[in-house]
Amino acid sequence: MQQTHRRAPLRMMTFIIAGTLLFSASTASAQQHKEHHVLGPIRVFYTTEGKDAVQLDDVDRTGVPDRVEDIAKQVWAAHHLFCDVLKFPDPLGCERYKKVNCIQVTLRDLGGGNGLAFDSSQRARQIPEGKSTDRAIVMSINCKLNPMKNITPAHETFHLVQYGATFFKNSWFLEGMTRWSEHALAREGLGLVKYSPRGPWPQKLQHLQQLSKMKYDAEHVLWNPIAARTDRDGLLSNKLLGKKLTSLRYSDGTPVLRDRTLQGAEIMRDIVIELGKLDDVAFEELKYDSWSEKNQRADKNSPYIYKAVMDVYRRRFPSVGPYEVSAGKRSMVQKKTAGDAFQVGSVWKGEPKFKDLKLTVLERSEGRFKARFESQGWVREVSGTANGNSVSWKVKDVRAVKGNAGGDNQGTIVSDDRGIRIDFTWRGSNNQGTFTLRKQD
Ligand SMILES: [Zn+2]
Repeated sequence: MQQTHRRAPLRMMTFIIAGTLLFSASTASAQQHKEHHVLGPIRVFYTTEGKDAVQLDDVDRTGVPDRVEDIAKQVWAAHHLFCDVLKFPDPLGCERYKKVNCIQVTLRDLGGGNGLAFDSSQRARQIPEGKSTDRAIVMSINCKLNPMKNITPAHETFHLVQYGATFFKNSWFLEGMTRWSEHALAREGLGLVKYSPRGPWPQKLQHLQQLSKMKYDAEHVLWNPIAARTDRDGLLSNKLLGKKLTSLRYSDGTPVLRDRTLQGAEIMRDIVIELGKLDDVAFEELKYDSWSEKNQRADKNSPYIYKAVMDVYRRRFPSVGPYEVSAGKRSMVQKKTAGDAFQVGSVWKGEPKFKDLKLTVLERSEGRFKARFESQGWVREVSGTANGNSVSWKVKDVRAVKGNAGGDNQGTIVSDDRGIRIDFTWRGSNNQGTFTLRKQD
């Protein structure tokens, strides 16, 4: 139900905050944050006293602290840019948040945390400018945060866009893509690119396994490379942006939109929309009975998210290869998918002591395979079974091309930090032993 980030030690804090919010939502909070400021659909609640107090400077003498106005401007600009200009699905009024018509931002002391975005909607707090039927989606922003130096309010706003579009909350998507989105308002059109935009796509299994465990850094190896390839300059024209956005300035006179570039907005929008479809497929196939917090973050979602990304990517670049959510790929975490590495064309070589061993997979269908297994003194064509993480063949199913046929072999596919290997035990008529083959790139 909530998203926190930036600092690992914050995790403990999160629970405390969540508890406080639940307890205080209807009573204490309303009293503590009795001031409010409205900018379009953005409603900022704040206080000028106590530990949640905001800095009181009011250079423009509007009667509202500049800090409050500046945070409202950043949230407004992010929401307007993504949903009105770039046509991302607007969480306000979407299917999940049907009656929601405003974004409530509460400024409070979050300790070391910068912000939190919540994915459940609620009745809006009553204000003279609103109606009694108003509903809100909400975020908390640290009351000490300076939006002229910190992009968190825009970051949390993008989470609300994600929540409105899809139930998936796996961090490599949720935080990775949101890091990409920060470049909309921030300087530069894109962050670091640490994976070749030219692929291969889909990425190798080992990369996917790493990706599925990433958070913010997924920006560098997935989202930014895709953005870079689909949108070279990322220029947003003044006409597209409109005067209201391009002329919006913080209280110190600097523009809220730091530059006019953001690479990859179109494809990210299409991916977000596609995720709204794939989450239904996942819900059905994974037999969820609700989108509980656990289900929203389950590892099993990852292949569905990745499929949505690749499907949209392929519409622009037909060279992007197929990626299907097969039973074996249902989790991108290591042990369940290692078996998929044993595919046709894959080459496996012996670890140091058995350097001259080489196994090449020639054919595979269902649980059967054919491979060429060779060493200095012999060449064998073996037929065996490959199921899940197990690979095996019997000596009777070996055709000795050169030398003898060896023995029965039983192997287990495992992942380690160097890649994927198969640990074998073999048994002959009067001897036995072990060896390891490692998958070659
Ligand atoms: Zn976040």
